[in-house]
Amino acid sequence: MSAPDKQIDIEAGRRLFARECRFVAGADNSEALPPIGLPEIAFAGRSNVGKSSLVNALTGRTTLARVSHTPGRTQQLNFFDLGGRLGLVDMPGFGFARVAKSKIKDWSGLIERYLRGRPSLRRVCLLVDARHAAMAIDHAFMERLDAAAVSYQVVLTKCDKVKPDELEERIASLGATLAQHVAAHPDITVTSAHEGIGIPELRAALAALAAPDQFD
Ligand code: GDP
Repeated sequence: MSAPDKQIDIEAGRRLFARECRFVAGADNSEALPPIGLPEIAFAGRSNVGKSSLVNALTGRTTLARVSHTPGRTQQLNFFDLGGRLGLVDMPGFGFARVAKSKIKDWSGLIERYLRGRPSLRRVCLLVDARHAAMAIDHAFMERLDAAAVSYQVVLTKCDKVKPDELEERIASLGATLAQHVAAHPDITVTSAHEGIGIPELRAALAALAAPDQFD
């Protein structure tokens, strides 16, 4: 992509993510899923991966984290409307040390139905902490996404915590893993919510999946 094009994409991303981000619904069972409408991007990853921080950095506000961290909502799929052009979906973090097995089974069923029954779901951003290689639970989720034929991209978080050569190594090994997954996007987005690294680029990539806007 040439530099001027990239500039335009970054600007489109900035404009989209400057819009209002409104909470639409929380769903803890498949009947509670909101009607299919806007193109959707879902954010997933292990608990503590930095999902709330990343989404706050993307939207420049704390609405999503506030809603998603509200007691009773942490195990739900939380749906947001970004400027009437893009749906953002905060998926519950995986790896629940303190959650009963029966609850995990319910959650798993809901996720499965959401992933398989949501034609508007354009992409899942699978967040992976840059300090650790992808774990078994990340691989298992990638397999679910492959099986559901849902396009996904890996977003590395907390890159400010990792030295450049270690980061290169992580990107290379993850790249080799992703090449074996049919639904994986080959590009890995490197981010730090704390330092703003990769945020404009991720906004631009996601804006390219949004519904068109006549005023844009
Ligand atoms: P969530 O559970 O996935 O929503 O994770 P949070 O966004 O709540 O972040 C978990 C922890 O990681 C918090 O202590 C954050 O301050 C920290 N964290 C999140 N993003 C970054 C980042 O970009 N850099 C660093 N160094 N720490 C981060």
